[in-house]
Amino acid sequence: MIAKKMEPYLKNNSAIRMMFEEGNRLKAKYGADKVFDFSLGNPNVPAPAEIREAIIDILKTEEPTKIHGYMSNAGFPEVRAAIAEELNERFGTKFTENNLIMTVGAGSGLNVCLKTLVDPGEEVIVFAPYFLEYGAYVRNYDGVLVEVAPDTETFQLNLTDFEAKLNEKTKAVIINNPHNPTGVVFSEETIVRLAEILKKKQKEYGHAIYLISDEPYRELAFDGAQVPFVTKYYENTMVVYSYSKSLSLPGERIGYVVIPDEVEDSADTITAATIANRISGCVNAPSLIQLAVARCARAKVDLEFYDRNRRTLYEGLTKCGFTCVKPEGAFYLWVKSPVPDEKEFVNAGKKYNILMVPGSSFACPGYVRLAYCVSYETIVNSLPEFEKLAKEYF
Ligand code: PLP
Repeated sequence: MIAKKMEPYLKNNSAIRMMFEEGNRLKAKYGADKVFDFSLGNPNVPAPAEIREAIIDILKTEEPTKIHGYMSNAGFPEVRAAIAEELNERFGTKFTENNLIMTVGAGSGLNVCLKTLVDPGEEVIVFAPYFLEYGAYVRNYDGVLVEVAPDTETFQLNLTDFEAKLNEKTKAVIINNPHNPTGVVFSEETIVRLAEILKKKQKEYGHAIYLISDEPYRELAFDGAQVPFVTKYYENTMVVYSYSKSLSLPGERIGYVVIPDEVEDSADTITAATIANRISGCVNAPSLIQLAVARCARAKVDLEFYDRNRRTLYEGLTKCGFTCVKPEGAFYLWVKSPVPDEKEFVNAGKKYNILMVPGSSFACPGYVRLAYCVSYETIVNSLPEFEKLAKEYF
């Protein structure tokens, strides 16, 4: 018999599988080019050529025992040093290899942070809408997830409700910038205000409240939007990064956590996080891809590809009458459902072979998410179908 703790996940898993199978069924029936599948955040842009070249070169030139062997649980020191240098160059920070732990993507990085910080019963605050896995990750450590209501005017952080939700049991707060699912970039002003509240509450409660900044979409920002580097604004910050989206490497499972020296008890925290990486069963992040990303620390995916999709989809849907949040980052468009029950809207979309994810999958009903990390043709060909869908409502 499976653990009781796992039972709720089975139901949720079948909902995701049903959505996936529905997409496959429609593609088999009408042809893949006639189905407009905006459901998955799987990048459609190939990884930069440098990555493949680096992998090939590493295999030819480095010692096999090094490439495929165990290393420090935090990752290769020279890999961490190369990434620290790149961060320092960009953000004026002073990180060394000791501040970085290479992880199995952002998912694992978040688990490392939560395992390091959260005791059973302690609270972790998240802002709706949010990446639903956060709930599972917090429950992994018997933490309690506390949701802040969305600010449906701007989809910036709702700091009024945040302040009301903070209490003595709050151990950590997770933010995600640029944002999945809204495509919003939280401004410097928002981060400054968030930091002020946290500093005030730390003083009031007499203990640290940690800010975990989940940043797999950091490099995907458009129209000159600046993504604030949060360690500059709040000392007790851990940054979680991933190459899944920024270099189109989701299957390689590679990312890192930054724990600055300014974090309270930083030496113990960094050691605990390194151990958390090991005892989660990951041991260390995959070795070959660690070496490859270090060589390509300054590589970039083709941002213009996403930007063209973003502009075309946003303009197309707005023209049809839909209300969309202007996306400035990541590769998601957040659209207000024209009817209160967004699942009804998602079902109506299926008549036109349009697949969208209901906002309730991100704890924010009344909206839908479109992942525009698809081909440009899919975007262009979907617009006449969105027009037909719009005519049902406007
Ligand atoms: N955090 C957010 C907000 C995400 O959207 C995702 C993946 O979609 C992740 C974390 C997990 O990323 P990774 O593939 O690096 O584990």
